[in-house]
Amino acid sequence: MNCIFCKIAAGTTPTDFLAYDDNVFVIHDVNPQAPVHLLVIPFQHIQSMDEVAPHDAELLGRMALLAKSAATAAGIGDQGYRLVINCGEDGGQTVGHLHMHVLGGRQLLGLG
Ligand code: 5GP
Ligand code: ZN
Repeated sequence: MNCIFCKIAAGTTPTDFLAYDDNVFVIHDVNPQAPVHLLVIPFQHIQSMDEVAPHDAELLGRMALLAKSAATAAGIGDQGYRLVINCGEDGGQTVGHLHMHVLGGRQLLGLG
Protein backbone atom coordinates (compact mmCIF):
# COMPACT_ATOMS: atom_id res chain seq x y z
CA MET A 1 0.00 0.00 0.00
CA ASN A 2 1.66 3.17 -1.21
CA CYS A 3 -0.26 5.48 1.12
CA ILE A 4 1.58 7.62 3.66
CA PHE A 5 -1.30 7.65 6.14
CA CYS A 6 -1.65 3.85 5.93
CA LYS A 7 2.09 3.61 6.66
CA ILE A 8 1.69 5.92 9.65
CA ALA A 9 -1.38 3.94 10.77
CA ALA A 10 0.59 0.69 10.54
CA GLY A 11 3.59 2.15 12.37
CA THR A 12 5.97 1.63 9.43
CA THR A 13 6.49 5.41 9.23
CA PRO A 14 6.95 6.27 12.91
CA THR A 15 4.90 9.31 13.92
CA ASP A 16 3.73 10.33 17.39
CA PHE A 17 0.03 9.69 17.97
CA LEU A 18 -1.41 12.52 20.08
CA ALA A 19 -4.58 10.51 20.65
CA TYR A 20 -6.33 7.51 19.18
CA ASP A 21 -9.28 5.21 19.62
CA ASP A 22 -10.15 1.92 17.94
CA ASN A 23 -10.84 3.58 14.60
CA VAL A 24 -9.13 6.97 14.43
CA PHE A 25 -5.80 8.57 15.38
CA VAL A 26 -4.47 12.14 15.65
CA ILE A 27 -1.04 13.42 14.55
CA HIS A 28 0.66 16.76 13.99
CA ASP A 29 0.63 17.95 10.37
CA VAL A 30 4.20 17.84 9.04
CA ASN A 31 3.72 21.24 7.33
CA PRO A 32 1.59 23.24 9.75
CA GLN A 33 -0.54 26.08 8.37
CA ALA A 34 -1.41 27.44 11.83
CA PRO A 35 0.11 27.30 15.35
CA VAL A 36 -2.08 24.24 15.95
CA HIS A 37 -2.49 21.98 12.92
CA LEU A 38 -3.54 18.42 13.63
CA LEU A 39 -4.78 15.64 11.38
CA VAL A 40 -7.53 13.24 12.44
CA ILE A 41 -7.19 10.07 10.38
CA PRO A 42 -9.09 6.78 10.26
CA PHE A 43 -6.93 3.64 10.47
CA GLN A 44 -9.01 2.25 7.62
CA HIS A 45 -8.05 3.41 4.12
CA ILE A 46 -10.90 5.44 2.62
CA GLN A 47 -9.78 7.47 -0.38
CA SER A 48 -11.81 10.61 0.25
CA MET A 49 -15.15 12.03 1.38
CA ASP A 50 -16.44 11.04 -2.05
CA GLU A 51 -15.89 7.37 -1.11
CA VAL A 52 -17.67 7.61 2.24
CA ALA A 53 -20.70 5.31 2.55
CA PRO A 54 -23.68 5.33 4.93
CA HIS A 55 -21.98 2.70 7.11
CA ASP A 56 -19.15 5.21 7.69
CA ALA A 57 -21.48 7.61 9.53
CA GLU A 58 -20.25 6.50 12.96
CA LEU A 59 -16.61 6.77 11.83
CA LEU A 60 -17.18 10.37 10.73
CA GLY A 61 -18.77 11.13 14.08
CA ARG A 62 -15.79 9.62 15.87
CA MET A 63 -13.44 11.74 13.75
CA ALA A 64 -15.34 14.89 14.75
CA LEU A 65 -15.35 13.93 18.44
CA LEU A 66 -11.64 13.10 18.45
CA ALA A 67 -10.98 16.41 16.65
CA LYS A 68 -12.86 18.22 19.41
CA SER A 69 -10.98 16.49 22.22
CA ALA A 70 -7.63 17.01 20.43
CA ALA A 71 -8.41 20.73 20.08
CA THR A 72 -9.24 20.91 23.77
CA ALA A 73 -6.03 19.03 24.64
CA ALA A 74 -4.06 21.46 22.45
CA GLY A 75 -5.51 24.34 24.50
CA ILE A 76 -7.62 25.95 21.76
CA GLY A 77 -11.06 24.67 22.74
CA ASP A 78 -12.18 28.03 24.11
CA GLN A 79 -10.67 30.37 21.54
CA GLY A 80 -11.95 28.31 18.64
CA TYR A 81 -10.66 26.35 15.71
CA ARG A 82 -11.59 25.09 12.27
CA LEU A 83 -12.25 21.55 11.08
CA VAL A 84 -11.61 20.93 7.37
CA ILE A 85 -11.93 17.92 5.10
CA ASN A 86 -10.53 18.53 1.63
CA CYS A 87 -11.95 16.28 -1.09
CA GLY A 88 -10.45 15.63 -4.50
CA GLU A 89 -8.52 17.88 -6.81
CA ASP A 90 -10.70 20.98 -6.62
CA GLY A 91 -11.02 20.54 -2.86
CA GLY A 92 -7.23 20.71 -2.51
CA GLN A 93 -6.77 17.14 -1.28
CA THR A 94 -3.15 16.04 -1.64
CA VAL A 95 -3.15 12.79 0.36
CA GLY A 96 -5.66 10.21 -0.89
CA HIS A 97 -6.64 8.87 2.51
CA LEU A 98 -9.57 10.53 4.30
CA HIS A 99 -8.50 12.95 7.02
CA MET A 100 -9.79 15.96 8.93
CA HIS A 101 -7.64 19.01 9.64
CA VAL A 102 -7.84 20.75 13.02
CA LEU A 103 -6.56 24.31 12.59
CA GLY A 104 -6.27 26.95 15.28
CA GLY A 105 -4.10 29.10 17.49
CA ARG A 106 -4.59 32.15 15.29
CA GLN A 107 -7.48 34.01 13.68
CA LEU A 108 -8.42 32.14 10.52
CA LEU A 109 -9.84 34.26 7.72
CA GLY A 110 -11.80 33.25 4.64
CA LEU A 111 -12.23 29.78 3.25
CA GLY A 112 -9.54 29.78 0.58
P1 5GP B 1 -4.75 17.52 2.24
O1 5GP B 1 -4.05 18.57 1.39
O2 5GP B 1 -4.78 16.19 1.53
O3 5GP B 1 -6.09 17.94 2.77
O4 5GP B 1 -3.86 17.37 3.52
C1 5GP B 1 -2.75 16.54 3.60
C2 5GP B 1 -1.92 17.03 4.74
O5 5GP B 1 -1.06 15.98 5.13
C3 5GP B 1 -1.06 18.24 4.39
O6 5GP B 1 -1.37 19.32 5.26
C4 5GP B 1 0.37 17.73 4.60
O7 5GP B 1 1.21 18.71 5.19
C5 5GP B 1 0.18 16.53 5.50
N1 5GP B 1 1.15 15.47 5.34
C6 5GP B 1 1.58 14.94 4.17
N2 5GP B 1 2.48 13.96 4.39
C7 5GP B 1 2.60 13.86 5.74
C8 5GP B 1 3.39 13.03 6.59
O8 5GP B 1 4.15 12.16 6.14
N3 5GP B 1 3.26 13.21 7.93
C9 5GP B 1 2.41 14.15 8.47
N4 5GP B 1 2.37 14.22 9.80
N5 5GP B 1 1.66 14.95 7.69
C10 5GP B 1 1.75 14.82 6.35
ZN1 ZN C 1 -4.28 4.92 3.24
